[in-house]
Amino acid sequence: MDLLSGALPSPLVPLKDSWTQDAGISLYMKRDDLIHPLVSGNKWRKLKYALADVHRSGNATILSFGGAYSNHLYALAAAGRLTGISTIGIVRGEELAGKKRSDTLAFCEAQGMKLHFVSRESYRLRYNRDYLESLSRQFGKPYIIPEGGTSTMALEGVGELAQEVYDQLGRHPDYYTVPVGSGGTTAGLLSAGQQVLAFPVLKNGGFLKEVILDLASDHSAHLALSLFTDYHFGGYGKWNPELVRFILDFRDRFQIPLEQIYTGKMMYGLYDLMSKGFFRPGTTVVALHTGGLQGLDVALR
Ligand SMILES: *Cc1c(COP(=O)(O)O)cnc(C)c1O
Repeated sequence: MDLLSGALPSPLVPLKDSWTQDAGISLYMKRDDLIHPLVSGNKWRKLKYALADVHRSGNATILSFGGAYSNHLYALAAAGRLTGISTIGIVRGEELAGKKRSDTLAFCEAQGMKLHFVSRESYRLRYNRDYLESLSRQFGKPYIIPEGGTSTMALEGVGELAQEVYDQLGRHPDYYTVPVGSGGTTAGLLSAGQQVLAFPVLKNGGFLKEVILDLASDHSAHLALSLFTDYHFGGYGKWNPELVRFILDFRDRFQIPLEQIYTGKMMYGLYDLMSKGFFRPGTTVVALHTGGLQGLDVALR
């Protein structure tokens, strides 16, 4: 029994259009955005085992980290409320403390999350042992989950989606395509033995290769990972009219919403690779819809 309910397995839907036909590939979308209305997509998968571990440990509070638009804090706040666990969010940016909350942070507070704003300098220490010790003392020894929900336990939860796809498709696909933030989702699929085409959503995302391979325990993972760093559209949280157009066209063709921070950029990149002849005809690709639709920009609603 999962501590947090979820509609599993999430649907695997075929996407057929003139681009997939011209490229001769079988494209599917794994709709993890449909797992849960509040704890969406990869955040549900990443939190699953961490929540179970917290529950087992008897700890009543989780502390984690994120920015003002963090999908992870959003999901954690909702998950905490639904499972009776208190949550504390360490938020990057001291200057935000007295200001009007972003929609994300307003939601977090409404779910009961306590927000604690820290300077960018302090936030940079979020993996530092001494800093974590001091936070632990300050907040009464909470269970600490790293930024993005990315931990070893997260990999196991993400890996389960590969088994679901195997059951739905009758085999593993040749590739998964995944948007990358912290890299945990990509590492989870690699750890499950999958080939992954990964699209960082931030600028200069090349460093993520090492981060991902460090996370993935599998030593042959470097052979299974390709990183495409040119689809960030200016950086994290940035986008342009071309991306908006792509997202709206995609929604018209398939009645599937994408957002502009993660899934829109990944699908744009995938279609660009397709049109450039990256895939051999006969290739099967599963694009992972990681969710995040609460962050849809007004231009896309
Ligand atoms: C958090 C998030 C990601 C990034 O996942 P990582 O495991 O941090 O790489 C991708 N898509 C959506 C919608 C997200 O909310």
